[in-house]
Order: sequence, then C-alpha cells, then structure tokens
Amino acid sequence: MKIEKILVANRGEISLRILRTAREMGIQTLAVYSDADQDAHYVRFADEAVHIGPSNASQSYLHMEKILEVAKKFQANAIHPGYGFLSENPEFAKKTIEGGLIFIGPTPEAMAIMGNKLAAKKAVSDYGIRLVPGAQKPIQDLEDAKIIAEKIGYPILIKASAGGGGKGMRMVYHPSEIKEQLERAISEAQSSFGDPSVFIEKLILSPKHIEIQILADHHQNIVHLFERECSIQRRHQKVIEEAPSPFVNAALRAAMGKAAIQVAKACDYQGAGTVEFIVDKDSNFYFLEMNTRLQVEHPVTEMITGVDLVKEQIEIAEGNKLRFNQDDLKIHGHAMEVRVYAEDPQNNFLPSTGQLKTYITPKGPGIRVDDGYEEGMDIPVFYDPMIAKLIVHAENRSLAIEKMKRAIQEYKISGVETTLSFCDWVMHHKIFQSGQFTTHFIGDHFRPEMLQNQLSTEEMEIVALIGTLHLKNQNADPILQNDQKNKNQWKKNRI
Ligand code: ADP
Repeated sequence: MKIEKILVANRGEISLRILRTAREMGIQTLAVYSDADQDAHYVRFADEAVHIGPSNASQSYLHMEKILEVAKKFQANAIHPGYGFLSENPEFAKKTIEGGLIFIGPTPEAMAIMGNKLAAKKAVSDYGIRLVPGAQKPIQDLEDAKIIAEKIGYPILIKASAGGGGKGMRMVYHPSEIKEQLERAISEAQSSFGDPSVFIEKLILSPKHIEIQILADHHQNIVHLFERECSIQRRHQKVIEEAPSPFVNAALRAAMGKAAIQVAKACDYQGAGTVEFIVDKDSNFYFLEMNTRLQVEHPVTEMITGVDLVKEQIEIAEGNKLRFNQDDLKIHGHAMEVRVYAEDPQNNFLPSTGQLKTYITPKGPGIRVDDGYEEGMDIPVFYDPMIAKLIVHAENRSLAIEKMKRAIQEYKISGVETTLSFCDWVMHHKIFQSGQFTTHFIGDHFRPEMLQNQLSTEEMEIVALIGTLHLKNQNADPILQNDQKNKNQWKKNRI
C-alpha cells in the first residue's frame, strides 16, 4: 500500500530527520508536539502539526490513544515511531495496524520477542548464535543467583530482562557482593520497566560493543549494512559511534553479518533493525539483543553506505522489495558520530538547563549535524538532553578524527554546558586514535580535571592512574559510583 501521509510519533532531531526524507519522497507529513515543543524546528517543518498534550511524555509522546486519534482525524495512513517513546511498544504497533494504518517497523510479534532479553535469547538459540555464557532464565531468589554465579564463575553481570539504556545492570566481582547487587538490580528493574525480572550473564572482560545494521523486506530478502563500533560508552550508554569498526576485519565482518541475518530470521523480522553483539579480546562475539527500530547512531551507516535508512524503512513498509542485494553494498570511507548533550562533563555529566544563547553549527565538506534546536531555544527538562548528533565522513579513520576535531572547534554553543569538550578530549586521546579501546575506555581514562587544561596523553594517563588508585582505596567502582550520583529525571528516556 502506498504511503500518502506519515505521522511521526516523536520529537526533536529524529522527528525532523524522518520528516525530511518523507518530504523528499513526496509524502505528506504530520508532526505532533507537546507544550514544551510548540516552537520546535520540526513542528514548523512539517506540512501539518498537531498539539497532543502537556510536556510530560506520558501525557503526550507516550499517549497512544491520542496519537492514533490524531492520525485518524488528519488522515495519515502510516506512523513512524522514531526511537525511544513508543518505538518498541508492540501494543502501539498492534493498535496502529488494527486502526488500518501502516506501522513503519517490524510486526508486533517480532517486537515483543526482541523486547525481552530472555525471550530474544531463546528465539535465537536455535539458530546457532552464540550467547554470553549464563543462565537463560529469570533468577528466582538469592540462593538461585548464588548457584548460577558459582557455576558460570565470577565476575558476573546481573541484567534486567526488560532492560534498556543500561539500567538494572549490576556487576558482581565477589560472592560477598551478590546479595546487595541483586537487590539493587531488581529494584531498578521494577522502577524503570515495571518488571522485576533479572538474569545473570558472565561479565565479559575487555569487551567491545559492535552492532550490525540489517534491512529485511516482506519478501524474505535480508541484507546487513556492516557494523557500527559503539564501545565508547558512559554508564553502559553510547556516546561516540563510528563505522566501520577499527577492530573488525573482513572475516569477522562477514561472520557477524551472517549471524545478524540469522537473528532477523529467528523472529521473522521486517524493516530496519540492529543486532547488538559484545565482542571479547579474541574476537569471539556474543548476541546481546536486537533493537527493533532506527538507532540514534544510524547516520554513520548511512554515510559509509550511501543508503538512506528511513527511505528504506518506508519502502519496506509499503511492501516493496529491497532494491539492492548484499553484493551491491560497499563501505565507502569512514564515519564518526558524537552525541552532543546539554550536560556538564566537568561536573559528573549533570544536566545543564537553560537557553541556547549562541548556537552555530559546523559546516563544510563531510559534515552532517542532525539536531532539533535553534539559537534562542530552551532545552526542555522533560526529555533526553541530547542537543545534536555531529557526524563526519572522510576517506579513512584518521582523517575522520581530524575532521571531527575541526567540526567540534567550529561548533559554538553558549547558555548551557555541553559535552563537546569531552568529545574533543576523546578525539585527542592516543588510545582512541589507535582503535585499541574497550567499553572501559571512559571509566579507565577520563577524569574531569583533564578538560580544564590541555594535557598531553602522558599527563592524562598520570591523572587517570591517580584517580583509579584513589577510587580503589575507597573500594569503589568508578562506574557504579557515577551510577549512584546520577539518578535524575532526565536520564530516564535515554536510548
Ligand atoms: P541495554 O539494553 O540496557 O542497553 P545491553 O545488553 O545492550 O543493555 O548492554 C549495554 C552495555 O552493557 C553493552 O554495550 C556493554 O558495554 C555492557 N554489557 C552488556 N552485557 C555485558 C557482559 N555480559 N559483559 C560485559 N559488558 C556487558
């Protein structure tokens, strides 16, 4: 069925990103907005925009009935959910379809399977996909947890079955810590997801997070669009992403791509999706989860493949066959993305509220800024504090890093603190430049005082070492310490 008018059930940069492609495809666009977003760029960009409620997401962007009512009233025949909010809610997908509209995404059944980490593991286990060693069932009680932990061996990771955004995840290095960490994981799982179910995995040491983008149509054609390297993380959440990964060679790429396609087959997937893997130092890769939506970091894949992923999502939703096969897809150069947040990296990344007094984005060849803000706008306190994604594309990785440094220098923001100085610090770090980093890079190497002065890499290492020793003396894990300090409203919706 031809899509005539799309309602984008989202806000900010991703709403604008989707509306732009829809317009290029000659599709009518309908935006929705809350009180906080009435002056937003995407609202003015859309052909039509409808106010759907107060700023609080539960009364606007998460309000299924209201959004469906607007889609009907304004005669949209498709809904694109973006990422976050309702994008991974099978009930919303089901109601959209029952209302006679096209849901731009997979079936509610595939979403339901992949939305639960344990159900997802069960589904893929028949397809020869390697899972992180652990118990593929929920923990019953403390005794059960102790038995499983002994069996797989410490250190372990306790995870929420319904997990997302790195929440409900607790590392346990020693049996004496398991009781406390289990209680914390359960209570965080309950408060964040309304589901207290947790399970145990082996903690992979020196891991890398590498994910594969896939596209699957309704005619059994599935391709992968190579990997994204997402190991630069803070509190288990991505902050810098790139494609291709400096760690992945052609053989590993082919093996991971094949595995990702198998995962898609395991849940009869249709649309754009991302299969996430954790990779150990010996290049063994283990399935973590599948995200059944467009990812925040999708632009790096678009830059290296030349494929507009939103366009492909729309084409697939209309029932069209993929216009390319695996052999048609090639990697061109290197792309990198930094997430620009309204947070203060010198003050434990605390959200920084206020008005964007100056807002000048970088320009020039190979630069893409996906943002939803303009000079003079306030950053609303109700949603994720991401201001923009700054993406660069160059011939190779070292040129991409140089381009990113230049772009960061050119980005001028005042009125709020941002993470740009932190991203610049990463770009200058020798370990990042070497490509030999793991998900522990920030925890091991970053100390806020490094942003105050322009330190050399050697000086930075000394500051990091002193900081690590200090924390060890306090018997504290730097990541867990940050976890405890950073419980605030804004972080709840991060993807
Ligand atoms: P979420 O859905 O909450 O984002 P994921 O399962 O995708 O959770 O994991 C988020 C991050 O946590 C990973 O990118 C990785 O850095 C870390 N992680 C997850 N599982 C493991 C593991 N078994 N060992 C080590 N690190 C892990």
